[in-house]
Amino acid sequence: MTLGVALLGSTGSIGTTALRVLDRQRNRFRVAALTAFANTALLAEQAARFRPTFVGVVNRAGTNGAGTNHEPTTHEATAHSSWHTGQECLIEAATRDDVDIVLNAVVGAAGLDATLAALEAGKRVALANKETLVMAGDLAAAAARRGGGEIVPVDSEHSAILQCLAGRRPSDVRRVILTASGGPFRDWPAERLACATVDDALQHPTWTMGRKITVDSATLANKALEVIEAHYLFDLPYDRIEIIVHPQSVVHSLVEFVDGSVLAQLSAPTMELPVLYALTHPERVPDDGVRPFDPVACSPLTFEPVRYDEFPALRLGMEAGRAAGAAPAVFNAANEQAVALFLEGRLTFTQIASAIGSALEVFGGSAGDSREALLAADAAARRHVRSLFSC
Ligand code: NAD
Ligand code: MG
Repeated sequence: MTLGVALLGSTGSIGTTALRVLDRQRNRFRVAALTAFANTALLAEQAARFRPTFVGVVNRAGTNGAGTNHEPTTHEATAHSSWHTGQECLIEAATRDDVDIVLNAVVGAAGLDATLAALEAGKRVALANKETLVMAGDLAAAAARRGGGEIVPVDSEHSAILQCLAGRRPSDVRRVILTASGGPFRDWPAERLACATVDDALQHPTWTMGRKITVDSATLANKALEVIEAHYLFDLPYDRIEIIVHPQSVVHSLVEFVDGSVLAQLSAPTMELPVLYALTHPERVPDDGVRPFDPVACSPLTFEPVRYDEFPALRLGMEAGRAAGAAPAVFNAANEQAVALFLEGRLTFTQIASAIGSALEVFGGSAGDSREALLAADAAARRHVRSLFSC
């Protein structure tokens, strides 16, 4: 019997990677639902190839505006799928009876409600959308407890930690060490960072990813998001989560145990492996698409300390995680808004971190004990960042 997968964000970097994996694993998994924001052309191609029963387009303007059950007329090959539009199609896809696993590859806070709904509905959530856990880690845990769902990380660092932890008790763990590539500005002097352009920030040395996470990797905000993600996923206190720069992105993270032994998980930098593992955990299955690991070709593997002073978004995010309440949601929302404005050319690279710092100063102490409170803090942080730059 095959397991049904709902792939939210199928047209993105993780989404298209996941479809390559699912194509090779058709004897285990069936694509039951696909959703995208607006790229109906690619979505229709994917629907024709994978024949999901449900297809969702979030942005009504990206379709002919006909409302639900819309099928693009130019793609008759997709007629077997039922097409839906609007924000609510994410939750519809995530909670369907023919769906066992929800692979949430949406970018940003927009993925929150689908994750919560899937967990309430008892699904496995293969979570790429780390912003969900950063904004609302406690709500996600509560939803999973109530509904019987579970989260399995897709993020490569967290997949590595999960694999290293297999079969271990929490009391066996001394600390986890997340690796960071350091991004395109790893060795740039501080004064040059103020002049970094959008093109510079989008040149990631080891990974090809969506634009938002690529900028997050340049500011190191991504690593702060991942520290918070690790805190919630593995129930680890912040003082047991550390970061090391590892430019080759081959060692995906490390776990040190109480006896001093350190385990790491290694592979060439590809998201196909963590995507597959999130679908099959705790099992491993053969995958003929994976390149054999070649230690010599990967050599040398090097490690460096993090340059916290040059990349202030990292420390701001880690402090927001420790502060808890709405602070992580404010950090996330301010970052999302600032990155969007940076990509539009409306603020400079170093202004991303100052905008986040300013939003945290004003709204970091807000309450974060409900979805509504978190969404209010998220909206306030975005408004604040826009107002800083008169947008
Ligand atoms: P991307 O921009 O390439 O793709 C995002 C997807 O989400 C697209 O399919 C888009 O249609 C959809 N989307 C965008 N806005 C939406 C909205 N408002 N509502 C519904 N759908 C929307 O991004 P990506 O690089 O694939 O990243 C996706 C998520 O995975 C992010 O949370 C990112 O941090 C995480 N992640 C990505 C990588 C990677 O290698 N790309 C690695 C680790 C984690
Ligand atoms: Mg990562």
